[in-house]
Amino acid sequence: MELILFLACVEADGALAKSAFEALGAAKKVAAETGGTLTVGLIGGDVQQAANAIATCGAVKFLGASGAEFAQARYATDAAAAEAIVKSAQPTIVIAPANSRTSRFIPGVAHRVGGKAETHVTAIAVNGDVQVTRWFYRQRMEAVLSRAARPWFLVVESGAAEAYSGATGTAAVENVAVQSPNSRTQVTGVRAPQVGEQTIRPDAKLLFVAGAGWTKKQPDGQIHASEAEELILGFLRTSGASLGSSKSLVDQSGDGQAVLQFMSHLNQVGQTGSTPRHAKGLSTCCHGEEPHVVGWRFINERRAINLDANCGWARGKADVVYVADAFEVMRKVNALLAEKTKAAGA
Ligand SMILES: Cc1cc2nc3c(=O)[nH]c(=O)nc-3n(C[C@H](O)[C@H](O)[C@H](O)COP(=O)(O)OP(=O)(O)OC[C@H]3O[C@@H](n4cnc5c(N)ncnc54)[C@H](O)[C@@H]3O)c2cc1C
Repeated sequence: MELILFLACVEADGALAKSAFEALGAAKKVAAETGGTLTVGLIGGDVQQAANAIATCGAVKFLGASGAEFAQARYATDAAAAEAIVKSAQPTIVIAPANSRTSRFIPGVAHRVGGKAETHVTAIAVNGDVQVTRWFYRQRMEAVLSRAARPWFLVVESGAAEAYSGATGTAAVENVAVQSPNSRTQVTGVRAPQVGEQTIRPDAKLLFVAGAGWTKKQPDGQIHASEAEELILGFLRTSGASLGSSKSLVDQSGDGQAVLQFMSHLNQVGQTGSTPRHAKGLSTCCHGEEPHVVGWRFINERRAINLDANCGWARGKADVVYVADAFEVMRKVNALLAEKTKAAGA
């Protein structure tokens, strides 16, 4: 029997993120399949709203570390809060959603309580013992493993587990006393590389990838970077797609070449970039070389637009390749989307 602790931080508005519901779904399943119990542990400024949202999840106990100092993502206070919750719950397995906040403090907390931690977990199965599937080495190797060590901390990737859903209610949250870590760190704000425009949308159905071709000389011998910006941003706004990039395109800002202003290294997809998860992907003006396409492993349906009928995508890496000018295609696509939006509003 395993004693499962679902551990999550609440968002600034007091709610739980989608990935937290997914981690709770995984925690509930493991508790049921091992014949164990489920405890909920929440960290945040005020955790009551989040606890109420999952009040009927079957947890034997709701533990909270709340107060102004836990509203901010800060290693010292987050780790102290998580340590206090873990010591109170005495779990054998802790399941948390992967995000920048939990991924930062979970390994440290595991060390403090003499446990082990697994990050990048994509599946948890119960086959006699608990078996965890996780990625290593920038998601190039997958392993299935189990451990005798407890407590075992599992940080579950977003999109990997079925999200918990259930009726809301009123949860009786037991406040856990946290030893103040006397932190001097104050979070004064968030600086994100994209000013104004949010282009990375992990929950989007579609990944739109822009390659270096957008800023290269076109058949008329000219560069059309500002039109490229307009077309790409226009498409992102109407479609709600997430924006990815090839390495060549994001590297250009350092080389003093024409650039797309809203693009940063955070958009880079590939071997030395990210490996996003979306149902569909559309690559434009990108050659589709292996170091880039390796980042597409979780994109289910792939399409590419390239002038070159012999590009990398055409060699078995995409389901559909449109041999066409991406400027022309996206101009037409944006016009069709604008018509559709207008018709929907009329
Ligand atoms: C160790 C290592 C790690 C790497 N890691 C990564 C990584 O993480 N991610 C990554 O992306 N790359 C990575 N690379 C680089 C990768 O090998 C490629 O060089 C890069 O992906 C090429 O980018 P691109 O396709 O945008 O540019 P290009 O190769 O310049 O291709 C531009 C494409 O645009 C097309 N094009 C131009 N105009 C149009 C138009 N009007 N319509 C349609 N198509 C048009 C051209 O036909 C061409 O195919 C790595 C390389 C190495 C050696």
